[in-house]
Amino acid sequence: MTTRRDCSALDRSDVLAQARDRFVLPPGIVYLDGNSLGALPVSVPERVRDVVERQWGTDLIRSWNTNGWWDLPRRVGDRIAPLVGAAPSEVIVCDSISVNLFKLLTAALRLRPDRRVILTEAGDFPTDGYVAASVASLHGAEVRAVGHDDLSDAIDGSVAVVAASHVSYRTGAMHDLAAVTARARGAGALVLWDLAHSAGVVPVDLGAAGADLAVGCGYKYLNGGPGAPAFLFVAGSLHEAFDQPLTGWHGHARPFAMEPAYEPAPGVSRAATGTPPVLSMAALDAALDAFDGIPLEAVRAKSVALTDLFARLVDERVPGCAVVSPRDARRRGSQVCLSHPEAYAIVQALIARGVIGDFREPSILRFGFAPLYVRFVDVWDAVDHLVAVLEGDEWRRPEHRTRAAVT
Ligand SMILES: *Cc1c(COP(=O)(O)O)cnc(C)c1O
Repeated sequence: MTTRRDCSALDRSDVLAQARDRFVLPPGIVYLDGNSLGALPVSVPERVRDVVERQWGTDLIRSWNTNGWWDLPRRVGDRIAPLVGAAPSEVIVCDSISVNLFKLLTAALRLRPDRRVILTEAGDFPTDGYVAASVASLHGAEVRAVGHDDLSDAIDGSVAVVAASHVSYRTGAMHDLAAVTARARGAGALVLWDLAHSAGVVPVDLGAAGADLAVGCGYKYLNGGPGAPAFLFVAGSLHEAFDQPLTGWHGHARPFAMEPAYEPAPGVSRAATGTPPVLSMAALDAALDAFDGIPLEAVRAKSVALTDLFARLVDERVPGCAVVSPRDARRRGSQVCLSHPEAYAIVQALIARGVIGDFREPSILRFGFAPLYVRFVDVWDAVDHLVAVLEGDEWRRPEHRTRAAVT
C-alpha cells in the first residue's frame, strides 16, 4: 500500500516542485480543476495592474503603439506556438474556442469544396458539436459523429475535415494525434484538433504530425484566467488559401487604410476578426511566464506519475468508484475520471472539504492534474478525503445535492 510518506518522498524528488511557487494558491485547498480554470500565476496581478493603471490610465490610446497592444495577439501566439509544435507565425490568440471553430471549420469546407462531411466524435465537448452542426447547415454539408475508437477508421474520401478533441474533456481519453492526422492526410482530408485539454500539459507536435488546423484554450492549462481568449493554429502551407468567414478589420491586410473592400492579411493574422480583449490577453501573456524554462516532457512525465498514482490509490482505497479514464497513460491526458451514481453530491462534499474537482454529466467525478502546481501529497489527500466523504455518507447532506448553475 502507498502511504502519505511515500507521496512526500515523491515531492522531494520532483524536478518541477519549485514551479508551484509560480502560482498563488489558497492555503488548505487541493486544486484538481486546472483543466477548467487554471490557477493564478504570480506574474499576472502586477501585469494587469500595470496595463490598467499605467498603460490605459496614463498612456491611453497611445498604448496601441507604445505598449504593444496591437501586436499582442501575434506575440502571445508566438509564445504558445512552441507548446503545440507550431512555428511562431502559425498561431494567433483571439476570440473563444467556439468562435474559432466556426472560422476554421468554414475555412476547411472552403478548402475542400468537393467534399461534404465534417467527421466528429460523439460525446465531444458540446460546443464543438453545436458549431459543427451550424457550419454544416450553412454549407449544405453533413456532420458524421462516431465513437472515440472509431474515429480513424471512419476517415474516407468523403470527409472534408476531421474535427476532434486531442484529449476528451469527459473521460481524459487521448487520441494518437500523429496517427489520426496521417490517416486523414492519406485520405485527402484536413484535420482540426481541439487542444483544450492538452495544450500546456501534453507535448503536442502539430508541425511534425502535419496537422492543418487547431484551436486551444487560454484559461485551462495555460492559466490565462477567467474568460481568457483562445488561440488558433493554421499550418503555414495553408495560409495563402485560408479563407475564413468572419472577415473583420483586424484580419485585414491594412486595417488603418479603412478601405471599403476586405483584403485578408498575409499569414495567420487573417484569422483575426475584431478588437482583442487587451486586459485578458495581457493576463494570458504574463501567465505564460509560468512555463519559462520548463520542458513539456518533464510536465508530461509528472502528469503521468500523478494520474497513475491517483488511479492506483482509488483502486486500493475506494472500491465504490470506478476509474473510467484509460488505464494506459499513453492513451490518457492529465485527468482521471471516476464514475459513481451520486457523483454530483460527492463532488460537492469534496469541495466543502477543500478538494476542488468537478462533476460532468451524467455520473462523472473529474479530477485534473496540473503538474506545475499539484503535488503528490495533494493526490494522497484528495483520495483520503474521498474515502472520508463516502465512509461518512457526507454526500447525503441536502446542501450537497442542490445543483448550482456551474457544475
Ligand atoms: C473548454 C472547452 C471549450 C470552451 O469553448 P469556449 O468557446 O472557449 O468557451 C471548447 N471545447 C472544448 C473541447 C473544451 O474543453
